[in-house]
Amino acid sequence: MNAEHCKAYTLLQEQQIDDIHAHGYLLRHNKSGARVLLLETEDDNKVFNIAFRTPPADSTGVAHILEHSVLCGSREFPLKDPFVELVKGSLNTFLNAMTYPDKTMYPVASTNDADFQNLMHVYMDAVFYPNIYKHDEIFRQEGWSYHLESEDGPLTYNGVVYNEMKGAFSSADDVLERETFNTLFPDTPYGVESGGDPSCIPNLTYENFLKFHQTYYHPSNSYIYLYGNMDMEEKLAWMDEKYLSHFDAKEVKSEIPYQKPFAETLDIVHEYPVLDGDPLENNAYLSYNMVIGSGLDVKLNVAFSVLEYALLDAPGAPVKQALLDAHIGKDVYGSYEDGILQPFFSIVAKNADENEKEKFLSIIRGTLKDIVKNGMDRKAIEAGINYFEFRFREADFSSFPKGLMYGIDVFDSWLYDENKPFAYLQQLAIYDELKKLAKEGYFENLIQTYLLDNTHASIVTLIPKTGLAAENDAKTAEKLQKYKESLAKEEIEKIIADTKELAAYQEEEESEEALETIPLLKRSDIKRESVKLYNDEHEVDGTTVLHHNVFTNGIGYLSLLFDTKNVPNDLIPYMGVLKSVLGYVDTEHYTYGELFNEINAQTGGINCGLQVFRIPENDDDCRRMFGIRAKFLYDKLDFVMKMIEEILNTSRLDDEKRLHEIISSMKSGLQNRLSSAGNATAVMRAASYYSPMSNFQDRIAGIGFCQLLKDLDENFDEKKAELIKNLQILMKYIFRKENLTVSYTADETGYAPLEEKIAAFKENLYTDEVEPGSIVYDFEQKNEAFQTSGQVQYVALCGNFEREGYDYTGALRILRVMLSYDYLWINIRVKGGAYGCGGAFGRGGNACISSYRDPNVGRTLEVYRGIGDYVRNFEADERQMTKYIIGTISELDVPMNPSAKGQTSESAWFNGITEADFQQERDQILDATLYDIHALADLVDAALKQNNICVVGSEAAIQKEKELFKNVENL
Ligand SMILES: [Zn+2]
Repeated sequence: MNAEHCKAYTLLQEQQIDDIHAHGYLLRHNKSGARVLLLETEDDNKVFNIAFRTPPADSTGVAHILEHSVLCGSREFPLKDPFVELVKGSLNTFLNAMTYPDKTMYPVASTNDADFQNLMHVYMDAVFYPNIYKHDEIFRQEGWSYHLESEDGPLTYNGVVYNEMKGAFSSADDVLERETFNTLFPDTPYGVESGGDPSCIPNLTYENFLKFHQTYYHPSNSYIYLYGNMDMEEKLAWMDEKYLSHFDAKEVKSEIPYQKPFAETLDIVHEYPVLDGDPLENNAYLSYNMVIGSGLDVKLNVAFSVLEYALLDAPGAPVKQALLDAHIGKDVYGSYEDGILQPFFSIVAKNADENEKEKFLSIIRGTLKDIVKNGMDRKAIEAGINYFEFRFREADFSSFPKGLMYGIDVFDSWLYDENKPFAYLQQLAIYDELKKLAKEGYFENLIQTYLLDNTHASIVTLIPKTGLAAENDAKTAEKLQKYKESLAKEEIEKIIADTKELAAYQEEEESEEALETIPLLKRSDIKRESVKLYNDEHEVDGTTVLHHNVFTNGIGYLSLLFDTKNVPNDLIPYMGVLKSVLGYVDTEHYTYGELFNEINAQTGGINCGLQVFRIPENDDDCRRMFGIRAKFLYDKLDFVMKMIEEILNTSRLDDEKRLHEIISSMKSGLQNRLSSAGNATAVMRAASYYSPMSNFQDRIAGIGFCQLLKDLDENFDEKKAELIKNLQILMKYIFRKENLTVSYTADETGYAPLEEKIAAFKENLYTDEVEPGSIVYDFEQKNEAFQTSGQVQYVALCGNFEREGYDYTGALRILRVMLSYDYLWINIRVKGGAYGCGGAFGRGGNACISSYRDPNVGRTLEVYRGIGDYVRNFEADERQMTKYIIGTISELDVPMNPSAKGQTSESAWFNGITEADFQQERDQILDATLYDIHALADLVDAALKQNNICVVGSEAAIQKEKELFKNVENL
């Protein structure tokens, strides 16, 4: 690109950025003052992002509500929901919007040129010319509004963000994070909740909402980012002509000020909600938080990520271990919050006694002082540096486009210094420097300065309180009731009328004319060929070795997969424990801390996991594999095999103290996951009533597993002998050569030495005689509800259509998109007030529908039961069908990095799915007609009629409709 050709812009900086193979340009748009950053790379997964600095002045959530609202229609795209139309009809690889404490961003990504241009166009129009001025319904729908259906009905609040934030305010971890963050920066925008505090959201007026847009959504306050392989000059010219040149530069006061450091450490006590029956003792959170310099100091930031690893994250890390040994909390962890002007470092103990705060502090300080005096563990620092360097080089962000992640990273410096957009894209030199500095006392100095001598710090204690959630709900209801009583008859009638009017607005069909403003690709723009698989099958004396031959930039991804089919039924749940024990207990040559650091200093990590695959010819069973996975530079293969052997052959599975630590921390981690990802939890549980795969997964990772962990943790002394025995027996059942399949992603060079290593490795596996057992599936339709301290529900309904005689077809993937963005979106999200919803239909016949952060239970199930009729009566013209097909293909065509190519090939191989199967599915999608969709109505009805229900959610909501369940208990 030649910046000379872009007369409307001034080139401020230009820089080759070798670390990420990019060429960067920083420009300023002359007339409007917009800041523009370009990263030219060979990546076809192009990214556009427009962001604004949006410091909130209060906790009404105005920035967040605006983020939702500008995507509800604009000048050129006057639909109620162009965002959803885009998702349905675009090949995007990313499309979303995010509110942060100090900025709001609107990123899109696509590999298709025409599509990319369309996405940019809709997003630019949305942020500069939204319909929020024309339709106050948008504010009432996305923000908050009074809801009253009849004169004697209860007055309530409704609103998408209002409900979303009620969900976000109900988890203890969220409460802690928010309280910590807000109180460390009381005099800055970080002192308030940018997402919105449910108790403050109703203070936001429509006028202030509009004013926020007028103030901050101006090019002079914007940050525009373009990444990838495209004609940058053309994009710059288009942005200038179409949008930026229509604005004159103005001064926008949005700078984020530094918080003045505290003279003394702050001490804060706060309550968080727990359920009736949950323990009040040893259930507090203790946290110690320190502000660390400036986000503009990249080296300091990288160093603190390394310190978090070395002091707290690594098993056996000194601060964590000292606290655990003193029984301060059952789970101890660190966190380093960056991406803000003033990052902060936290040390947290969960399930602690609030009266031990002083002890908590003195142990932390004592341990840190010892470290400063005696020096850091060199290996731990080395491991920490390598851990982050490996990830920076690998740049594997799973399904997220690389350019998107870089586009978010640039804000860590760009937002606070407009001349420093590239700072976080260049880290390799910093890793080298840190390796040197580690030998010169650098990290010890950081501990002294920032963790010991720093008074810009806080101690936050969270104390559990029973019924707090219900109390808050009651307070809100009472406030609303009082307000209602204060109203005159006409005012009440007005609210009823407004409620009806909003519902009418939401129900009104989009006009054809409006829908057609959204640019759409043609079916012929989509490529026919489906995904390519990379499975070269080799055999090493009886063992299958799958080689996924792709270019990996010198990194090998190795999986050793052991079939567990002979594991007896009563040992199955213990596999879930074993996978978290191996690699985390002492071995012959290493303590567990040394082991972990040794591995991280030389590789990208070795992990254990359980994976379940279909057995295509037998749907009454599934294939359950125990996997050991490692990633590393090719020349570390020897080292990796040696370490895996060390773990499999010499792990000390009888270390009682260590086992109890692992169990406690697993339990607390799992409990969090189960309630925060309540939709996944509920689906897994509901499907476990009849599906072999889900039944197994529930026992090793779901609610069933959680019950085992709770029992082991609470009755450890009674159960420990049995636990140890079971783990030891499992080793002999699982790690045998006849169970092994190897899967390796690397190019030819990487593969060459593998077979010989595998042959040697097999010789050292277990050969003891064991009595083969087998899994017994305890299928039973339990239709359960699990109560949490949260204020929202996750509602799942599942069934199996193959058992009713229907076959899997690609059209089901289209149905999934139709449900997510049409029927369920409108009925569950827009009208029902849930944050999310979706359906999934798998090969094998599983059909699962679920909602996320949902205020309802029974109503939601009724909506699910209407899916069949919706499908039966579904009408669409060619344009609409094409739109759904494109949306479906875009879900399939997520660009894959090397490790994803290997993973996809591996699971296809195990599941018995061939390239031809994928091609058939793709053809069924591309050629789908309305007839094919209608044919799914009976299939859906048949599956959902099986009526497998599970709900995770608030006590109040579940109790109100408890007749829906056979069994209700606390999660
Ligand atoms: Zn939101």
